[in-house]
Amino acid sequence: MGALDGRVALITGGARGQGASHARRFAAEGATVVLGDVLDAEGLATATGIGPAATFVHHDVTDPGAWAEIVQWTLDAHGRLDVLVNNAGIFRTRGLLDTTLEEWQQVIAINQTGVFLGMQAVAPAMIAAGRGSIINISSIAGLQGTSSHAYSASKWAVRGMSRGAARELAPHGVRVNSVHPGLIDTVMLDELGEGRPMVTQRVPMGREAAPEEVTELVLFLASDASSYCTGHEFVVDGGMTA
Ligand code: NAD
Repeated sequence: MGALDGRVALITGGARGQGASHARRFAAEGATVVLGDVLDAEGLATATGIGPAATFVHHDVTDPGAWAEIVQWTLDAHGRLDVLVNNAGIFRTRGLLDTTLEEWQQVIAINQTGVFLGMQAVAPAMIAAGRGSIINISSIAGLQGTSSHAYSASKWAVRGMSRGAARELAPHGVRVNSVHPGLIDTVMLDELGEGRPMVTQRVPMGREAAPEEVTELVLFLASDASSYCTGHEFVVDGGMTA
């Protein structure tokens, strides 16, 4: 028996990296998984690799209309929606003095507004069902000040939005938590360029994590094993913020 038998999960940014890892494991635990992403070829390949339990749907998290469509598609195809993982994101390392307004708006649109739109889009179906789990992927950049100015701002916002939504949705049986990964070995870390080994050295455990190590935590929050957890930050960072 799987931890997510009979459940339906929607994962944004599911084409590659951590989102793809969550999707593979959710399916292995019995869930039906809908993967959204703007990367069509990679998204299709990931869903095909998982098999009939997974479907890829083109989905841009900044587009309210696309949210309405993917939620309706999921409900029409599978009849329910139990879990949303707001995982899509982009990383930019520029500090306060170097961040352009255009870059700020792009990071906020995807990392922050995307999470707002996602929670708002799935909440009615979850409230109607009287149950649900929303997992918002923040970062350790949402727990401390960093020189990645827009990114850090967006991830702090996700943390606060998760707490607020958790309070609002708790009476309806819907849980909302944020996950704060440290350095995870995905394409995203290419943004660190030549500085990557130096940053990795600062991790007390001395290494980056595999995406699957974050998946363990996300699976816990998606499943009934976390039935009394809502409105909190869950950190997986090798001791980086200890
Ligand atoms: P990744 O770049 O491999 O995955 C991010 C995915 O989001 C990509 O598939 C990308 O196409 C998708 N995406 C980007 N813009 C989108 C949009 N507008 N609509 C839909 N999808 C979009 O990186 P990852 O490490 O797997 O990142 C997953 C999440 O984890 C992100 O929210 C990221 O900020 C967070 N995170 C990553 C790290 C790390 O070290 N890799 C650390 C902390 C937090």
